[in-house]
Amino acid sequence: MYQLGVEGGLVVSPKGRWRANLYVAAGRIAEVSQDRHPAKELIDASGLLVVPGMVYAHVHFMDPSAVDREDFITGSAAAAHAGVTTVIEHSHSGPVRTSDQLYEKSAYLVGRSQVDFALGAHAWPGMANEVGPLWAGGAAFLKAFTCSTHGIPAHDPADLLTLFRSAASHGATCLVHCEEESLTRSAELALRQTNRQDGGVIPDWRSREAELVAIAITAELASLTGAKVVVAHASQPAAADSARPFCLVETCPQYMTLLESEAIEFGALRKFTPPARARTETDLREMWSTLASGEIDYIASDHAPSTLEQKQAGSIWDVHFGLPGIDTTLPLLLDAVHRGWLTLERLVAVYSETPARIYGLYPRKGNLEPGADADMVLVDPERRWVVDDADIVSKAGWSPYAGRTLFGGAVTTLLRGKRPEPGDGVFLPGPGHTTATSAR
Ligand SMILES: [Zn+2]
Repeated sequence: MYQLGVEGGLVVSPKGRWRANLYVAAGRIAEVSQDRHPAKELIDASGLLVVPGMVYAHVHFMDPSAVDREDFITGSAAAAHAGVTTVIEHSHSGPVRTSDQLYEKSAYLVGRSQVDFALGAHAWPGMANEVGPLWAGGAAFLKAFTCSTHGIPAHDPADLLTLFRSAASHGATCLVHCEEESLTRSAELALRQTNRQDGGVIPDWRSREAELVAIAITAELASLTGAKVVVAHASQPAAADSARPFCLVETCPQYMTLLESEAIEFGALRKFTPPARARTETDLREMWSTLASGEIDYIASDHAPSTLEQKQAGSIWDVHFGLPGIDTTLPLLLDAVHRGWLTLERLVAVYSETPARIYGLYPRKGNLEPGADADMVLVDPERRWVVDDADIVSKAGWSPYAGRTLFGGAVTTLLRGKRPEPGDGVFLPGPGHTTATSAR
């Protein structure tokens, strides 16, 4: 007898959708069938969609480094609530720069996550010798910055070349934050001289040009070295165009839902970087088409929360960058499906299967084929609701989308065939992981 049966739902994968019953044994998908079989627990999914659990590749839970903003307990609870069953986490406040630090962090997090988790590491200028040990230690990717941001030093093109050569030789994946240092620095100096304190400094400081120049350099170096490089949080269609031939491309819902002018209106509550670029509804729709067409590979919100109090404590220059987002990413995507901007199949590709493939978690994650972990989300596509700060599970406790009416949401999330509880999540070492390293 199976552990669990999920019967009568419409199962969706990037290849299509069909009515089927899913049966789970030992936490994995055992059978996908038109027939019905006995199971200890049965879930009636009729009227609901059944999709693989979301794989959230860019999240900052800041645990143990800045737990006044978020931690794994609250962040992973928000994930489970919103249909995310795997997160890939890295925190700038506590950068992992060596394989020892990676091991310590994964050991510290045992029992703290409600969903499965992988961990990114930080590449550091002058420390390219750590790339091999970090990759063999199970890092999901190496994060590099082209600008000094969030306390992380910039990789100039020479540093980036060294990093990519090393990454290519080890088969390691790099995730790169692309804003060019000299352009952001000179813009900052000019803005500070005029003593501007308004929210409008954000788009002037973190310009479109700075992002595009950094992407051009990153893509060229990826091409020269053959390294596997992902451009993080592409904010505009031109960014995806420029990255595309030699890099994979990530984007975030904020670039499809928030306008540049909101930085002026809301100031620090819209301080994130790269900032929102869209000036019109047409610009927003163009980003949705870029995601729908495949020019962008996957989506994650770069969840980097602060509470409302933290976001308002200090000048526009001083407060943290970043937005809370893990609570709202799936609903925003479902809402786009409702509006006809994205297909359900593409939603599953960009938020589950593709990130699982890119970061070496597929086929265990990112699909509902027999043998995969039984991570799934039951979705009500017609549920109409209004985003309310009171419903945000993240420690942030607020959302830039509060007040919006959305269609669609997760009804039930299952991790390895059961409703996830605190501590159920396990560490998923990255694809370069060798047992020699874990046997220490
Ligand atoms: Zn980030």
